[in-house]
Amino acid sequence: MLDEDGEELRLDADEAATLLALTCDFDAATVSACPSCRSRVLACIALVDLLGDAPPHPRIPELIVLADDAPTLHLYVHDLGTPCRHRMWRDPGFVEWSEVLEEFADARRGLR
Ligand SMILES: [Zn+2]
Repeated sequence: MLDEDGEELRLDADEAATLLALTCDFDAATVSACPSCRSRVLACIALVDLLGDAPPHPRIPELIVLADDAPTLHLYVHDLGTPCRHRMWRDPGFVEWSEVLEEFADARRGLR
């Protein structure tokens, strides 16, 4: 999960699976999503509400902080567990998502 500044929260596969189950795949907070994997764009405000109502999960407090501190209204989920080229994801949300992911990948390379 990323915000536009590249602030990052990484979940392992188990954590991601339980979190997705608790939040019904973040459905209520999803602005745009890839139909073939779990990469998606989330609305921060809706996400904080959704997490506030969800059953307890060890990573939820960190996620709420990430959503609260995000510089824009959106958070970006990158599904690292599914190899996917997102070919079926065709809306403005995907353009926004890829720009943030690309920028973040560039920043990462710059650090090395
Ligand atoms: Zn995808």
